[in-house]
Amino acid sequence: MATSGARSSRFGGLGQWWGVLAGALLVAAWINRAAGPAVIVTLSAAVLLWSFFQAPVTCGAPVRGRNDGCRNNATGLLMGCHIRQHRWQKLRMLILRRQVRDFCSGLFSDGKATLVTLAAIGSFLSGLVALIPGVALG
Ligand SMILES: [Zn+2]
Repeated sequence: MATSGARSSRFGGLGQWWGVLAGALLVAAWINRAAGPAVIVTLSAAVLLWSFFQAPVTCGAPVRGRNDGCRNNATGLLMGCHIRQHRWQKLRMLILRRQVRDFCSGLFSDGKATLVTLAAIGSFLSGLVALIPGVALG
């Protein structure tokens, strides 16, 4: 699973947005109410994993001499691009507490990142509400 390769060409780039499709299904499942909590939890987990480890966002790792950081494509909010030093950069930022703020500002650095971040927050809340019935409104 963790191997990187020429996997993305199969879907012509659109395939990496499958998390958005899963997110749409998740919203539909909530509206419908016909889908059971198991479906909602599964979809929530899928969207969350996608946004953390697969979503096509910008790497954004600090690069000397650039204010906006690395512009390569990264795989997910928690991962960097193919450059080895960048790969774990964001997880490292989360561990080092004084860099958490930098990490958080990176979550809304551009439209793509904001969309993926909102998907992560939404799916997290959705999964939480589905898992703990007492939290649900009705
Ligand atoms: Zn990078």
